[in-house]
Amino acid sequence: MKHTSNKTNEALLQRRVEALPRGISYAHGIMAERALNAEIWDVEGNRYIDFCAGIAVVNTGHCHPKVIAAVEAQLKQFNHTCFQVVGYESYISLAERLNKLAPGPTPKKTFFMNSGAEAVENAVKVARAATGRSGIIAFNGAFHGRTMFSVSMTGKIDPYKKDFGPFPAEVYHAPFPYPLHGISEDDAIAGLHNLFKYDIEAKRVAAIFVEPVQGEGGYIPAPPSFLKRLREICDEHGILLVVDEVQTGIGRCGKIFAIEHTDIEPDIITLAKGLGGGFTLSAITGKAHIMDAAQPGGLGSTYAGNPITIAAAHAVLDVIEEEQLCERSMQIGNQLRSRFAKMQNKFSFISEIRNLGAMTGIEFCHDNDPQKPAADIANALKTEAAKRGLLILNCGVYGNVLRIMVPLTISDAVLKEGIDIIESVLTTLS
Ligand code: PLP
Repeated sequence: MKHTSNKTNEALLQRRVEALPRGISYAHGIMAERALNAEIWDVEGNRYIDFCAGIAVVNTGHCHPKVIAAVEAQLKQFNHTCFQVVGYESYISLAERLNKLAPGPTPKKTFFMNSGAEAVENAVKVARAATGRSGIIAFNGAFHGRTMFSVSMTGKIDPYKKDFGPFPAEVYHAPFPYPLHGISEDDAIAGLHNLFKYDIEAKRVAAIFVEPVQGEGGYIPAPPSFLKRLREICDEHGILLVVDEVQTGIGRCGKIFAIEHTDIEPDIITLAKGLGGGFTLSAITGKAHIMDAAQPGGLGSTYAGNPITIAAAHAVLDVIEEEQLCERSMQIGNQLRSRFAKMQNKFSFISEIRNLGAMTGIEFCHDNDPQKPAADIANALKTEAAKRGLLILNCGVYGNVLRIMVPLTISDAVLKEGIDIIESVLTTLS
């Protein structure tokens, strides 16, 4: 069939429904025409402020001129060789950069994949090869991806796991600290010990995977003391600590790696999203002796570490440094926190404001009662804000958390404009 163009959101949505399976859902019935920094324009010429950033991906903004220039320059050189067939320096130098940036004194090694899920899958492969053990522990509410193994690690049934089982064996879930919903740090640690008692001996566990801030799970920062206790438990039992920084990394939380807010050295870190600035790249960085456990040929993929994406990532890291976007992330987080703290006095349904740097979640519960999660408020806010020119998303096990993922390059004026829209919509919902 010939490609046709009928440029209204409604008409494209109709074609989308007819051409795509419903499993590929949509948050907004809006079709993009172009985007710049923290703004998107749709096919009808409407302008939106973007508080989604392609789900925490364009930390350096849409079409940052330096990222685009780096990609254009690379396109003129070559765009694919398959790194395992014919290598290139930029892949090696990006690995060197991440090895240097990763926290802790142990020498590091890095390789690249395409998506966050692939980074997680490969971290599992490396952890199993390095330990000779099979067990993998993740947390309730975790999101590690949608491929068959990573989705088995994802700790939420609906919609990610529903109808897709059976899942691969040897994946176990422990409680994640969520004080608002009655799960303390001690409860979470007790849950982990229960796994060792009832489900899998600690000496058969290869790795514990943890997000420094649970993303899809509800923008819930892991307490630093909890992460420290995980490190200690891992050390005690010879388990690897894998920190999944796919969403929290590359400045989102005010550091290149969110785990740098603690003094913990993870064994392996997974990265994706912000790393490629919108070009599909993920990375697995870890202690060199662990990363070398997989045999030659055991790791890799046709496209992984594609030169276009690598060029983009080098530019992203340059921009983060030059424009001091980690510091900016902290400022954005402070501004969001102080604005929402004021709103909390006005709206009884704002139960909690959580942030680490710019990664900010606002949890809505009716009458400020955690037993009454208010997904209806989050959904109405999302729909009404879009009508007023602001794109936002919600998340959380109960779907009641507004998550804010602004490009870190957003101006103060556009940030304020976006928050003002949220406040005006919440006023109508109160
Ligand atoms: N890990 C975390 C923490 C994530 O937030 C995500 C995606 O949201 C993934 C893994 C999966 O990444 P991808 O969607 O690129 O496969």
